[in-house]
Amino acid sequence: MAMLQLECPWCGPRDEEEFTYGGEAHITRPPEPDAVSDAAWGDYLFFHTNTRGLQSEQWCHSHGCRRWFNVARDTVTYRIHRVYRMGEPRPGFDA
Ligand SMILES: [Zn+2]
Repeated sequence: MAMLQLECPWCGPRDEEEFTYGGEAHITRPPEPDAVSDAAWGDYLFFHTNTRGLQSEQWCHSHGCRRWFNVARDTVTYRIHRVYRMGEPRPGFDA
């Protein structure tokens, strides 16, 4: 089975192991992480992203250019629909 690849907007396709997952994109972080309990913070980190279907994720090309970007990915099929730069509008999820 081929290794999953992600396409960095600056570097092009690279093996997924070069990247670091940074959680769901386009959501508001808790304003004061220190003010919420560890359990609540854990829920936020690990359970907020249980969308089935398309979701936007933040990834960092941590072993390459070290820049962050967004990936629109289907969480069921793992198919990557679009890669786009931070600050660009969320792509339409109708396609
Ligand atoms: Zn890169």
